[in-house]
Amino acid sequence: MSDRYAVIGNPIGFSKSPFIHGTFAKMTGQDLVYEAIEGPIDGFSGRVDQFRTEGAKGLNITAPFKLDAFAYANELSESARRAGAANCLKFEGDRIIAENFDGIGLVRDITANLGVKMAGRRVLMLGAGGAARGALLPFLRQQPSELVLVNRTLSKAVALAEEFAGCGPLIVSGYAELADLAEGYDVVVNATSASLRGEMPPLPGNVFQGAELAYELAYGKGLTPFLQAARAEGVAKLADGVGMLVEQAAEAFVWWRGVRPSTAQVIAALTVPLS
Ligand code: NDP
Repeated sequence: MSDRYAVIGNPIGFSKSPFIHGTFAKMTGQDLVYEAIEGPIDGFSGRVDQFRTEGAKGLNITAPFKLDAFAYANELSESARRAGAANCLKFEGDRIIAENFDGIGLVRDITANLGVKMAGRRVLMLGAGGAARGALLPFLRQQPSELVLVNRTLSKAVALAEEFAGCGPLIVSGYAELADLAEGYDVVVNATSASLRGEMPPLPGNVFQGAELAYELAYGKGLTPFLQAARAEGVAKLADGVGMLVEQAAEAFVWWRGVRPSTAQVIAALTVPLS
């Protein structure tokens, strides 16, 4: 019988994960089935218990269950512990092991796919929610010269900076103060959810000056207000989060199956043009 995997979320109809993992399985000749599960909002653990009794080997987790998955696990990787959330589980007997590949997926997309170095560069990250939290350690491990974290609710960014103190050159700012800080950034990453509502984070005008890359974590939205602003200020490379999505899936696939799939073809198939 084929090994079983799934993605769980609510809603789940939009999920690209069955396509991504189905394609990876075909490419690598792995015998598995991968489905999408709409988890009950107040019934994550019951639904996952059921999936495990059916012989499941692993699970991807999307909104709103990343914290539930973290609590459900009985072993945490460092990335899951640092992110305070899990986007991937592996089931081995009684072991329920949690990982979080979102941050490493983002770093791989920036450095390997887009060819933008982060080492020694100035990086600006907007947002202090789940995605930003998960990206902090993988970003700091790239050894940027400075990572500036800015958030609308400043206290959340300050709390993150305290938690990650000692991991690297992390600086916190409010949006209004950014104009004074800005010596220019090489990489500007929008890890807010503003684009999901067609909104623009309140950035001062000069933050894109001289930037090599503007990266929008939301995907499939075309040219968001953030990417439009970056283009208007002459940023050469613009990207959305489709590569991050596929790269985190590839990390999960390697972890589960021990084989690394190539990602370029899947990214190309899912890319919505930025126009
Ligand atoms: P959260 O809800 O955890 O955090 C949202 C963040 O956005 C907060 O920091 C919030 O600020 C900020 N924010 C929301 N609206 C605005 C606004 N108008 N102006 C400024 N800041 C704003 O979301 P996530 O961290 O889970 O997700 C963030 C983004 O990342 C989403 O677009 C999501 O789709 C994307 N994502 C992409 C993935 C991928 O694989 N490509 C994976 C995971 C997420 P405040 O604290 O002040 O409320």
